[in-house]
Amino acid sequence: MFRTITCGELRIADISKEVVLAGWVQTVRKFGSITFVDMRDRYGITQLLFDETLNQQLDDNPLGREYVLQVKGIVSERSNKNKNIPTGDIEVLVKEFSILNRSITPPFTIQDDTDGGDDLRMKYRYLDLRRNAVKKNIELRYAVNRATRDYMHQNGFMDIETPFLIKSTPEGARDFVVPSRMNPGAFYALPQSPQTFKQLLMVSGYDRYYQIVKCFRDEDLRADRQPEFTQIDCEMAFVEQDDVLNMFEGLIKFIFNTVKGIDYSEQVQRMSWEDAMWVYGNDKPDIRFGMKLLNLKCPGHVFTGKGRNNLLIDGAGFGVFDDAETVVAISVPGCADYSRKQTDELTEWVKRPQIGMKGLAFIKCNTDGSFKSSMDKFYDGERLKAIAEAAGANAGDIVLILAGSEERTRKAISELRLDMGRRLGLRKEDEFKLLWVLDCPLFEYAEDEKRWVARHHPFTSPKPSDIDTMINNNPVIENAAEYLKHPYANIKANAYDMVLNGNEIGGGSIRIYQKELQQKMFQALGMDEAEQLHKFGFLLGAFEYGAPPHGGIAFGFDRLCAILGGSESIRDFIAFPKNNSGRDVMLDAPSTIDQKQLDELQIKLNLD
Ligand code: ASP
Repeated sequence: MFRTITCGELRIADISKEVVLAGWVQTVRKFGSITFVDMRDRYGITQLLFDETLNQQLDDNPLGREYVLQVKGIVSERSNKNKNIPTGDIEVLVKEFSILNRSITPPFTIQDDTDGGDDLRMKYRYLDLRRNAVKKNIELRYAVNRATRDYMHQNGFMDIETPFLIKSTPEGARDFVVPSRMNPGAFYALPQSPQTFKQLLMVSGYDRYYQIVKCFRDEDLRADRQPEFTQIDCEMAFVEQDDVLNMFEGLIKFIFNTVKGIDYSEQVQRMSWEDAMWVYGNDKPDIRFGMKLLNLKCPGHVFTGKGRNNLLIDGAGFGVFDDAETVVAISVPGCADYSRKQTDELTEWVKRPQIGMKGLAFIKCNTDGSFKSSMDKFYDGERLKAIAEAAGANAGDIVLILAGSEERTRKAISELRLDMGRRLGLRKEDEFKLLWVLDCPLFEYAEDEKRWVARHHPFTSPKPSDIDTMINNNPVIENAAEYLKHPYANIKANAYDMVLNGNEIGGGSIRIYQKELQQKMFQALGMDEAEQLHKFGFLLGAFEYGAPPHGGIAFGFDRLCAILGGSESIRDFIAFPKNNSGRDVMLDAPSTIDQKQLDELQIKLNLD
């Protein structure tokens, strides 16, 4: 037998047993006539003791790091126990050994705190994967995969594969395309998601489908995106929004429980998109902490529940606020004692180009009941108090205020809120807070293209109460600057996103299943009939044969794993990821192909 036991299993109860082990040499330590070797495999590390009887053999066959070794020996109690590893009570007294393979010196140490930089580790990813820190991520990914499959199976979902070589029908991002040798000049596309296939499966009657599946999007890679990534892709027929929400919050809770031992028994909070934007300035708010926004200049919207009041800032002659489209505040607990240096640093922070604000105003709510503000000149104590109270501030808190154009200011205050949450340690890695964000707008107006685009994708249905608005209005806009006045701007989507700790981990919708409405949708997006037929004729055709009402969702599998693993980077949870330029530095891909291959494809390059 090659091995009788792994390197992670032996305990004190195994003393005197004869065992055969195989693995990689982690370290070799020679003390006079005896040699200790730590041998590693996927399951752990076992200390081996080579005594003087093996000296000659070791001299003839010296061991080096990452050599592959097989040993036969007797388990014995260690005199010097290591409490840090499960096998730390024992060692194996080697009787025979054989070197199964040698290794050249690895380019970095195979240890938790390795000396290898990012690029080097990516180039030798197969060695990086030997490290515990990476291995535990890959194990967690597998645990999430298994839990998903268990839950889906228990709930009657079938895993049905869908093709990777499909037709180019961009869903929002750019397609990766693959030339077809047998059809010169024609191209397949790789799916951005199996969206239309899962809908067709509903038409076919497979009313509960799922897949853990690769998706491909040729996007400019913003931080922490991968050109190929994995989704838990799901679809159900004969469902309403509530059925989908309940089923899939069940999935995430099941994963939490199985993988992390977390009992998330409370119902997942649900919030409208509109509320999320007003209360947190963000459609994927981190609700592990409060600091809700107080909008000081927005008649008709009550954010914190404590009220809004233009009068709080009106009439004081403070031009920055008077002239701004939006003035928003957050109350940061316990920071009234911020020094000048600290408030200056915060001001610099909001002025950074990524945030783009001109400045920051603040009110310190001192514990003695007085107020100290950067706007003392314009606002008396009463007004400062009123603003602070409206922002929900208590004695000891600081109220931070930003002013400017609505979109930018809202974004900025949302970033500031997140950063203050981080500074105050309110975004705890081991706390998990889920949120459903519902009913986002169906359309966005792309000013550069002068047309409506689907905020989610073109298969998402409008809220039933908005269907008439969609059908009875002409999507064309005469005056692009006034698109907000068009009835389409107010149509809400029958859509939902699941947010975990401020990250969108999943999104989906109840779909359009009537041909006419789908055609209207395509038309709203600026597709004439010919284009509709060319791109989506198969779907419109299928909808003529009894398509059932259906809806679904897809979760970002890599992201979910990263959050559960307490990491910001999805790359750490992918066995063979690409770098930020979309390159696989290990394979050196993408790369050129032979002229012969190009000739077969009848492709001429035009690289000048
Ligand atoms: N296919 C969608 C996406 O990839 C998810 C869905 O609507 O189910 O975002």
